[in-house]
Amino acid sequence: MTLSGKTAIITGSNSGIGLGVAEELARAGADVVLNSFTDRKEDHEIAEKIGKAHGVTARYIKADMSKSDECRKLIDEAGACDILVNNAGIQHVEAIEKFPPEKWDAIIAINLSSAFHTIAAALPLMRDAGWGRVVNIASAHGLTASPYKSAYVAAKHGIVGLSKTVALETAGQGITCNAVCPGYVLTPLVEAQIPDQMKAHDMDRETVIRDVMLTRQPSKQFATTGQIGGTVAFLCSPSADQITGTTISVDGGWTAL
Ligand code: NAD
Repeated sequence: MTLSGKTAIITGSNSGIGLGVAEELARAGADVVLNSFTDRKEDHEIAEKIGKAHGVTARYIKADMSKSDECRKLIDEAGACDILVNNAGIQHVEAIEKFPPEKWDAIIAINLSSAFHTIAAALPLMRDAGWGRVVNIASAHGLTASPYKSAYVAAKHGIVGLSKTVALETAGQGITCNAVCPGYVLTPLVEAQIPDQMKAHDMDRETVIRDVMLTRQPSKQFATTGQIGGTVAFLCSPSADQITGTTISVDGGWTAL
């Protein structure tokens, strides 16, 4: 599969799943634009490394996805957008009566509203090109719920609905819009939690992963960032031309339960 000549913008991609998606799209030949809200030397170095490894143009653009004007400016500044991956996301876990309203607002802004703004800015470019791919990184929590994650579950269900609406508004125009719904993915953030969980439960690594972290993931294996990236790359391939307005779960069977 070749995405050479296409430009992909991946929000929230200086770590974790977003970085995995950027790597897989670059491997498929796309020029990539990485993003987060920081502007550190390392952020630019990550992009440089991907560019060199895959022989593509890779840039890092700082933009805070909690701010509507910065979401739209990211697309303008990139100057091209054939593939848009809305991935930036945060989490907060607390009972609804105690859930801080500012955390609710931040989660809705970053995990949901940012996609509305980037999509609105990117669609005219995709329509001009007669081709486009929008992939929204939702979650198993876009299809099911868990207690104490009200804002996250609401935002992820919202982004599944947004994906369907954008698919209908772009159908037949060479543009598709889908949501990828990962279960538990082994990101550096998740990896870092394992030693603490081992201590807290007095369990070895395998037991803590199987019985504590992956209780809802029947495969008892994490998905990898490369597998999420590979799924996004598939959605950008010609085989997926008629896949639009739907969800693809990469969750080891979570949502089959
Ligand atoms: P992560 O913390 O490694 O990545 C989140 C990314 O978003 C980072 O690059 C971070 O810098 C960026 N970000 C946060 N706030 C931002 C802001 N205001 N503006 C721009 N960028 C911002 O976590 P991750 O696990 O890689 O999560 C990526 C996405 O995948 C999220 O949408 C998350 O909800 C989703 N997801 C993760 C899992 C999992 O198990 N890790 C499962 C399902 C869905």
